[in-house]
Amino acid sequence: MNIPKRTFDALVIGAGGGGLRAALQLSDADYQVAVVSKVFPTRSHTVAAQGGINAALGNVTPDNWHWHMYDTIKGSDYLGDQDAIEYMCRAAAQLVYELEHYGVPFSRLDNGKIYQRPFGGQSIEFGKSQATRTCAAADRTGHAMLHALYQQNMRARTHFFDEFYAIDLIKDKDGYVLGVLAIEIETGEPLLIEARTTLLATGGAARIFRTSTNALINTGDGLGMALRAGVPLQDMEFFQFHPTGIAEVGSLMSEAARGEGGYLLNSEGERFMERYAPNAKDLASRDVVSRAIATEIREGRGCGKNKDHILLKMDHLGAELIMQRLPGIRDLAMRFAHVDPIENLVPVFPTAHYMMGGIPTNRFAQVVTPAQFGPEEPVPGLYAVGECACVSVHGANRLGGNSLLDILVFGRAAGNHMLEYLQENPYPREMPVDAMEPALQRLLRWEKTGDGESVHTIREAMQKVMEDYCGVFRTSEVLKEGITKIKALHERLQHAVLHDQSKVFNTARIEALELENMMEIALATIISAEARQESRGAHSRIDFPERDDDKWLKHSLYFKEGRRMDYKPVRLKPLTVETFIPKPRVY
Ligand SMILES: Cc1cc2nc3c(=O)[nH]c(=O)nc-3n(C[C@H](O)[C@H](O)[C@H](O)COP(=O)(O)OP(=O)(O)OC[C@H]3O[C@@H](n4cnc5c(N)ncnc54)[C@H](O)[C@@H]3O)c2cc1C
Repeated sequence: MNIPKRTFDALVIGAGGGGLRAALQLSDADYQVAVVSKVFPTRSHTVAAQGGINAALGNVTPDNWHWHMYDTIKGSDYLGDQDAIEYMCRAAAQLVYELEHYGVPFSRLDNGKIYQRPFGGQSIEFGKSQATRTCAAADRTGHAMLHALYQQNMRARTHFFDEFYAIDLIKDKDGYVLGVLAIEIETGEPLLIEARTTLLATGGAARIFRTSTNALINTGDGLGMALRAGVPLQDMEFFQFHPTGIAEVGSLMSEAARGEGGYLLNSEGERFMERYAPNAKDLASRDVVSRAIATEIREGRGCGKNKDHILLKMDHLGAELIMQRLPGIRDLAMRFAHVDPIENLVPVFPTAHYMMGGIPTNRFAQVVTPAQFGPEEPVPGLYAVGECACVSVHGANRLGGNSLLDILVFGRAAGNHMLEYLQENPYPREMPVDAMEPALQRLLRWEKTGDGESVHTIREAMQKVMEDYCGVFRTSEVLKEGITKIKALHERLQHAVLHDQSKVFNTARIEALELENMMEIALATIISAEARQESRGAHSRIDFPERDDDKWLKHSLYFKEGRRMDYKPVRLKPLTVETFIPKPRVY
């Protein structure tokens, strides 16, 4: 097959906030940068981020980056790497001001400064009282951010491949990543994009669960590509369930709703979070609130005729505040729950939201794998950033408002390190003739015709298994059953066929490729979850209810080869300050 080729200095796969911030750094330094995205860039999931971005600006309450760092480490249930967390929290203010200068229309306080709202897990003086740290553009912060970053990339002349689907990384025998094989969705034609350095910025994978706050495109393609390139996935058992997805539907009622003063009620009309988190109440961190909701429902205090959800109360906030600060939330509630939060309570339930785990990187965004000698080594030329990466700043549980920050800070860090890499590697490496073969085979596999199940049936079954067997509360027995079921579905997928073999805009083919990725991620998630015999952050084991620092203060690594687990230490040493020693976590 004669496949057309395009050559660039740097390749960025994914046009969310992480990919675009990195691309901007590279384009502004006058390198030739290609950004590949399976949807038009401004439709990336970053656009859906509502609540805001954390930075210790101190515009409302006193604040500084040490407290932000402490909150993030505590929120991570001490699994976060403290060097990366320090780096992120220290860079936050500068990067938020930079966004302002890029044109993000932040909401304003009366004195003209950037508006900030309280979010879960934020404190002053290391846990003393609630801080107000989340910078917001109403409840459309991600939208504002993504559009500004896209415009800046237009100015900097980044080259975009819109609606191109990346299939697999191309590597040579020495392990260097040489680019990617993609297909143009419109024509179905393959294209080889060659680059000296490649960044994976493909976002999250919460679509492996049945109800999710995520866009349909969040299928974790970058993680599948990394696994097939021999890179393990880190901490995959830690999936965040957002406490307030609209019941049954999944659309997100941002934490901003509680930040602005909303709270949760059970069927007895009780503000039950006061029992679970006496100080932080409804603004305890997300894992705590999600477990509280699941417990209320399990103990029979759920609302509605099936007692299967609880209620989010915002009607006391007043129409003016809701219209001004939470217009998008109101819109979603009216559209998907058919209630107006100005007058009524919104039915909510914990919903798959965010992947704390991902492709292991260091704080320069270099993808790292266990080395034969010594602790770990970078994969030459390969970087990862954003939700698909695990750097790890979120550890076992991410704080709201820290992901938009993560993608900016490490997007820039990736760009900077890729610049160094380009300077040290001024010439492209030779592309071996057979380097593309595995990626091509993956594509050709779907040309098989005949009888066979549809991709759609298998996807739905997988999402249901993940929800039922790997949800908020977990036990060994149930997880093991889930593993057997996912393995069986993985096997069934090998025999599935596409009934539509056309080339032009064949979204069924894209969905098949996506499901292959999701299936690998589901396996990684549920196998990692069964292996971790403790409760930490979002990973809550009924059979091992305590956190166990002696045995489990370590990151898990899942390898596709042999579906095996390995572990590596948490980096407890920050860059300049003293280690925050693990303590019991109370809110
Ligand atoms: C509803 C919602 C609200 C949120 N609110 C907040 C918030 O208020 N604050 C906060 O901090 N975080 C929030 N988050 C989390 C945060 O928005 C995301 O974690 C973050 O935006 C992810 O950015 P990203 O750059 O990693 O990826 P994304 O923005 O998800 O972008 C991924 C990109 O990869 C591309 N891509 C993927 N696979 C392929 C492929 N195979 N080929 C080509 N391109 C591909 C996509 O086209 C897309 O451009 C929210 C998340 C959701 C779902």
